[in-house]
Amino acid sequence: MSDNGQPLFEVKNLKVAIDGNEILRGVDLTIHAGEIHAIMGRNGSGKSTMANVVMGHPAYEVLEGSVKYKGEDVLDLNTDERARMGMFLAFQYPLAIPGVTVAKFLHSALKARAEGADLPVREFRVNLNKAMDLLGVDSSFGSRYVNDGFSGGEKKRLEILQMFMLEPTLCILDETDSGLDIDALKTVAEGINALRSEKRAMLLITHYQRMLNYVKPDVVHVMMDGRIVRTGGIELAEALEEKGYEWIEQELFHDTDAAAAAADATATAAEAAQA
Ligand code: ADP
Ligand code: MG
Repeated sequence: MSDNGQPLFEVKNLKVAIDGNEILRGVDLTIHAGEIHAIMGRNGSGKSTMANVVMGHPAYEVLEGSVKYKGEDVLDLNTDERARMGMFLAFQYPLAIPGVTVAKFLHSALKARAEGADLPVREFRVNLNKAMDLLGVDSSFGSRYVNDGFSGGEKKRLEILQMFMLEPTLCILDETDSGLDIDALKTVAEGINALRSEKRAMLLITHYQRMLNYVKPDVVHVMMDGRIVRTGGIELAEALEEKGYEWIEQELFHDTDAAAAAADATATAAEAAQA
């Protein structure tokens, strides 16, 4: 660990509601620089909610808890400020921006981050071409409108292309693997692996274990009902692939049963002691 033990990213007891419904019910997550974590979970378990809240999406109401990045609580910062500090989210459903080309979009994003510093167009072009080469996208990509008529694979590649250009320190990828055929998945995984670094942390949100055959996470978490209910290594992802999510539910149910039984026993013992 090159960070003297201070986590790069730390979520504590995060509770979040939307339209009055509590979706996240106490999420804890700690990620150090250099690590890749995966969050797996069924649809509706709260994965995207967590990613959106971390980036400052205004629709969500934070009820409790903290989100720290580089030791700073970011919940009061707007999305722009978080991005400038090096946080990045690759969206599950990237939006189209008709009329704005990919090249223009990326240049603007870099300019915004440079905060007025010089950003020579020629150098930008060279870097963009290099990144597009690496990701196996056609050179015409830069002059197409952002996500306008893009295939699923192209949208996901653009998310990775942004990551290449912006070089964020914390990358959160929300289902960047979904809807990709095997070739696109491999390219996207190669891109992610190329960005792996001691200084950077990544959080891969995924529904399937498939992606994790190509990008090896250090830690795997399972989210269920707005909580992280299991944390382990790659073997956890493999168990999910093999057995689905039901066994965890059953374990949790038994845990709860056991906890309730223990609480009952304690209460009975206390009553007995009082009598
Ligand atoms: P996941 O990414 O794990 O599939 P989400 O975070 O998208 O899960 O959704 C978690 C729950 O929150 C779901 O029940 C979903 O219906 C609800 N939810 C998420 N976003 C909204 C929203 N904008 N408005 C209302 N409900 C939402
Ligand atoms: Mg989602």
